[in-house]
Amino acid sequence: MTDFSKTIKLPSTKFSMKANLAETENNWIKFWKNNNLYKNLKEESNKFEKFILHDGPPYANGNLHMGHALNKILKDIVCRTKFQSSLDVNYIPGWDCHGLPIEWNIEEKFRKSGKKKNEIDLGVFRKECREFASSWVEKQKEQFSRLGIQSDWSTIYTTMTRSSEVSIVKELLKFLESGELYLGFKPVMWSVVEKTALAEAEVEYKEKISKSIFVKFPVQNISEDLSIIIWTTTPWTIPCNRAIAYSRQLKYKKILILNDYDQKNLKKNDKVIISENLIENFLLQHKVEKYKILEDVNEDELKNFICSHPLKKLGFNFEIRLFPSNHVTDETGSGFVHIAPNHGVEDFEVGLKFGLDNSETVDDGGLYSNNVPFFKGIHVYKADEEVIQQLNKSKNLLSDEDYNHSYPHSWRSKAPLIFRATSQWFISMEKNKLRDKAIQEINNVKWIPASSKNRILSMVKERPDWCVSRQRSWGVPITIFISKKSNQPLIDKEVNAKIISKLDELGIDAWFEKPNDFFLTNKYKSEDFIKVDSILDVWFDSGSSHVFVLKDQGLTKKADLYLEGSDQHRGWFQTSLLESCAIYKESPYKSVLTHGFVIDDKGRKMSKSLGNIILPSDIIKKYGADILRMWVASSNFTEDLKISFESLNRLSDSYRKIRNTLRFILGNMKDWDPREKVSHEGLPELEKYIRHKLYKTNNEVQKNYDEFNFHKTFQIILSFCSQDLSAFFFDIRKDSLYCDSINSISRRSCRTVLKDIFQCLITWLAPIIPFTTEEAFQSWKSEINKTEKISCHLLKFLDLPKIWIEKTLENDWEKVLEIRDAFSYSMEKHRQKKDIKSGLEVKVYIFSKEESYKKVSKNIDLAETLIVSEIEFVENKDKDFDVFPENEKLSIKIKKITGFKCPRCWKTFSSSITKETCYRCDEVINESN
Ligand SMILES: [Zn+2]
Repeated sequence: MTDFSKTIKLPSTKFSMKANLAETENNWIKFWKNNNLYKNLKEESNKFEKFILHDGPPYANGNLHMGHALNKILKDIVCRTKFQSSLDVNYIPGWDCHGLPIEWNIEEKFRKSGKKKNEIDLGVFRKECREFASSWVEKQKEQFSRLGIQSDWSTIYTTMTRSSEVSIVKELLKFLESGELYLGFKPVMWSVVEKTALAEAEVEYKEKISKSIFVKFPVQNISEDLSIIIWTTTPWTIPCNRAIAYSRQLKYKKILILNDYDQKNLKKNDKVIISENLIENFLLQHKVEKYKILEDVNEDELKNFICSHPLKKLGFNFEIRLFPSNHVTDETGSGFVHIAPNHGVEDFEVGLKFGLDNSETVDDGGLYSNNVPFFKGIHVYKADEEVIQQLNKSKNLLSDEDYNHSYPHSWRSKAPLIFRATSQWFISMEKNKLRDKAIQEINNVKWIPASSKNRILSMVKERPDWCVSRQRSWGVPITIFISKKSNQPLIDKEVNAKIISKLDELGIDAWFEKPNDFFLTNKYKSEDFIKVDSILDVWFDSGSSHVFVLKDQGLTKKADLYLEGSDQHRGWFQTSLLESCAIYKESPYKSVLTHGFVIDDKGRKMSKSLGNIILPSDIIKKYGADILRMWVASSNFTEDLKISFESLNRLSDSYRKIRNTLRFILGNMKDWDPREKVSHEGLPELEKYIRHKLYKTNNEVQKNYDEFNFHKTFQIILSFCSQDLSAFFFDIRKDSLYCDSINSISRRSCRTVLKDIFQCLITWLAPIIPFTTEEAFQSWKSEINKTEKISCHLLKFLDLPKIWIEKTLENDWEKVLEIRDAFSYSMEKHRQKKDIKSGLEVKVYIFSKEESYKKVSKNIDLAETLIVSEIEFVENKDKDFDVFPENEKLSIKIKKITGFKCPRCWKTFSSSITKETCYRCDEVINESN
């Protein structure tokens, strides 16, 4: 028999089936760089409207983790879709460079060389920090670029660039001049490990087991043995106690103890005072069975009591008085709260109101100061046991128990925090109605998902004044002078202008290095002032980024989008909002999109101790960045995102489907000549239908991209590739593509539409898998159309012709697909019986009482669509017909044809044929000879 294989046009392309992304992706990064892709893209876009995505700066310390990858890939998908939607995208990647973690690293480095921090010159230390941050910016830049993040990596921003630092100083001084910045003495969340105040955003709440204690404060100015009972979960604050608070809303009662309870330090005839509602619990807990509840104790009595400190014998010789406070409740404890003015917000307020001594009790490192008898020099973390022991010795401890509660910890050092009153700089939420303004602006922002609005709203409603000072070295200095006489900050616009101009000239280190008169104007004597040596909260730095990245660069409009993890409602979204509302009277962004966190497949956080960390670099090495990006695109990012190697394997299968779709088109478009193109009117019904589908899908893809529904976009594209194309259109058209004459209208029509599909697919997929689309596009450019643009990433989304919408055709094809489903059902039965292998060897009989099925077969070639040899509609059915269970209107019979089987195209014909091949094949062969 003749070998016909050479007469068949099998697909051929250099775009390989196997991707090998881990290697090839690096070449595309080089390709984009060598071709100045981003510069070209920006130049081609500058006539369009701007779209500003302002990058929230990651911290310049350490290799990228999945959270970074997720965030930057989402941003990249947004930017790419906006470029493709004919917008001029402004996206400048940034880094947050000041702050504690870097400072620690450098301290550690010096410590290893035997130097303590106070032995190092501040300038040298800051220089080391700066270099350390720079080196991580460079490394992370490299790693982001490897993820396919499209940007001009030579144009970035950092919070430590001189222009940024000076801008930050300018913003701070605006707060000083407006009166919103004030120097306050207040309890703040204090880390004794980091020796600094922490911002709300730097605090995480974790379960902690503390000691809860009930303590007696003996009343000294009456003749009975009477005590006030307090309850606390921070025994270390007892040596800092100055008073007791009660509530005017509660009823207090005296209780007479009628037995000795030595272990509880309670004796027969002792009397204690407790809030009425807590008596029962108290007695139960202390196993006091013999007692008598006596009379009420009214406020006049409480006010007149003078208690002794429970540790009086150790030198705590002062009087303890009782004061009313609204923060006292009867939820737990005794209905009395002991007051350590320096170690709690409410305690501090009670202290201020009633003039309590608030001299320092705990120093910055967590040691009791010299003002505290007996305990001075002891670390508060280690004090609980000692305090409990001493209280017991003094017979004033009733009980101590382990107490499990949610307690603030430093998110960096993980150490538990304490409240400690210190002098700090605060931005007032009330002075110029900053809180009201921020709340008003929150309502003008589009929050995605919408539920995130309430989150930030409740945070802003409840937040305290913003503590912006830190007692550290690596950051932007608080460039303010304090008058020695008045202890008040110097607010003078001329001085501020001079400070700014000097720092602009020399850099902000000059603040630490130069003397007072270098910055002060002639009006002032330098010896009258002290330079503040605290630095700014890094959240003030990044909260001002909209100024030095956007406004300072002449961008007058608000950022269109901020896009970060949901933890930034507490962090960057909020600090940016406050900074901008205070100084510019509006929010810095139009919309804010938040995403969840990356967790493992069991829903657990990734952690070293669980050993479940997956790094972006692991995924890139094993699968390639495009698979990682597909994972991001296919996940619902509004929730936490699960990742595992199993799920990545499944995604690799989806990737192969998409890749093979591209490959099928490339292979079958070989030797494409634009003259082959068939006009829309001239296309067969199938091609028209596919164009109709393409039109609809193109709209859906763009709409979902626009609404940030990336996982839906991805599903639409994937299902289009696998169902509409591979399993349908391509399957049907293989015969025409491989066996028809190159001049045949059917093959030319098919290729006309394949070209449309390819162009759409590339633009749909480019934001998600930029490496693969580039590879496919370059094959296209070299094998099919040399006149294409340099890169697929310069393409725009397509606006397809409206004449492609074919509503009636869609209805017809619905009928055809119903027949196809019924046929597949019957065919599957035969395949199982193994009496039929291929549809090409059968004739299909269709029976239906409904005319519409027969009607569609007039315009649409049903045999071709089902990929069978013959079709016949019959008026009657016999017992060999299968009723299709899902649509009983249709019955199908499949009959094997024993006739002529064409050796070239494998179609079977019941009529006899005298030639070696079927007529079609015969013509094609003769034509090429
Ligand atoms: Zn044939």
